[in-house]
Amino acid sequence: MSDKHFKRVALIGIGLIGSSLAHAMRAYKLTDHIAISTRRQETLARAEELELGDSYHLSAAEAVSDADLIIVCTPVGACEAVAREIGPHLKPGAYVSDVGSVKSSIVAQMKPHLPDHAVFIPAHPVAGTEQSGPDAGFAALFRQRWCILTPVPDTPDEAVEKMRLFWEACGSDVDVMTPEHHDLVLAITSHVPHLIAYSIVGTAADLEQVTRGEVMKYSAGGFRDFTRIAASDPTMWRDVFLNNKEGVLEILGRFTEDLIALQRAVRWGDGDQLFDLFTRTRAIRRGIIEAGQDAAEPDFGRQLAAEAKPDEDGL
Ligand code: NAP
Repeated sequence: MSDKHFKRVALIGIGLIGSSLAHAMRAYKLTDHIAISTRRQETLARAEELELGDSYHLSAAEAVSDADLIIVCTPVGACEAVAREIGPHLKPGAYVSDVGSVKSSIVAQMKPHLPDHAVFIPAHPVAGTEQSGPDAGFAALFRQRWCILTPVPDTPDEAVEKMRLFWEACGSDVDVMTPEHHDLVLAITSHVPHLIAYSIVGTAADLEQVTRGEVMKYSAGGFRDFTRIAASDPTMWRDVFLNNKEGVLEILGRFTEDLIALQRAVRWGDGDQLFDLFTRTRAIRRGIIEAGQDAAEPDFGRQLAAEAKPDEDGL
């Protein structure tokens, strides 16, 4: 048995991330048995129809008994209740991880409910789409995307290494940092951009002098790219903002100051300031493409990605 292999894995929650993990673990032979648990009977039945696992359980406690790795894939706000339920049923040496988009709050919610004989190693795969549910997953979701591990003080080094191998086998590059640092980094790269998208799409929806039809018709002028982000799952994102208050408010403060400076530049016709900023931001976009985190093709390579997805799934 290789280091990245776990004999029995339990997935608690089987939406976009849980089902993508199920596909990836199958495709890359990372486990002998996938036990799936979710809250609603209809989601569990759909997971079974899609043959995402080997056993299906409405009870999370039942799914985790005898599991070597448990990955909690529910919205962040449900993690404490899940930890409370599974804690007493974990076998000695079981690894407990998660995929939540915030980390400090997950540690605070889950750690107190886990027994000393379990190994806790929180994780965040920085990979996603605006889709939700068990139908949305695909094996290649994590490929060439970062997965951040945020060990707690008593996580053994060997557990960090084993989870690194596991996520690398799913196609990810792996970084390790503290939960607090993760939350600040993700506030700027993900959380605040989502808040801005939600805000601007909401503003457009409320405009009275411009009709809804015109907003749709001329959306390719930039608005459309915000709507993709603003279509992300409302429950997941509500929980992100409720659980990374500190990081989001810190970055939002900086952003608001910068926005006001831009407002002044527009008002006073300060073309140099605008041109300098737009030149710097264009270089950032180039850096992201060079880092393999997006495509340079027109339309952000969306067409290419859509064509690639079905083939990659079964690899
Ligand atoms: P999703 O597609 O909406 O799936 C959520 C799953 O959790 C479903 O199986 C759902 O079960 C279950 N669930 C929802 N509320 C629950 C509750 N109160 N108690 C127990 N189970 C509950 O979500 P997702 O996009 O996979 O996101 C899951 C986690 O991954 C979140 O923590 C999110 O922060 C993180 N994440 C998401 C992305 C992304 O882009 N989507 C990227 C990286 C990390 P039922 O259907 O049975 O109700």
